Amino acid sequence: MSDCVFCRIIAGELPAAKVWESQSVLAFLDINPVTEGHTLVIPKSHAADITGVSEEQIWDVALALRAIAPAVVDAVGAQGFNLLNNCGGVAGQAVEHVHFHIIPRKSNDGRGYRWITFNYDEGVADELASKIRGLLA
Ligand code: AMP
Repeated sequence: MSDCVFCRIIAGELPAAKVWESQSVLAFLDINPVTEGHTLVIPKSHAADITGVSEEQIWDVALALRAIAPAVVDAVGAQGFNLLNNCGGVAGQAVEHVHFHIIPRKSNDGRGYRWITFNYDEGVADELASKIRGLLA
């Protein structure tokens, strides 16, 4: 898509610090990293989010993530990483070309990572799980 920033990177119209590329997948450094080495992994076929990615493409992306993440971690001397996909504006997705963030993490890097959580009332989790199962059937 001509107005998609990530499609433009794939097409070579915009610069990027590429770390890995195959026929179907591209990985490059995030221009505004959370931590040093923050990498984005994208399918080359445009899809706004994960629900639009073909089976073959998501498989290729998953294999790339598994291979790339340890290299990113090693390159910056991190001890772990967050693997993140924001899906939809309400979830923080700013670029509408599906992408997975690999964010290397070091102890005491000060970035933190805590969701606000809650507990289900009695019976609610079972009811909700059943509803989701129904939608998947
Ligand atoms: P998200 O909020 O999940 O949509 O994340 C979009 C990410 O894309 C952000 O972390 C941006 O810093 C990153 N980003 C946007 N434009 C570029 C670009 N031209 N090159 C590299 N990363 C980019």
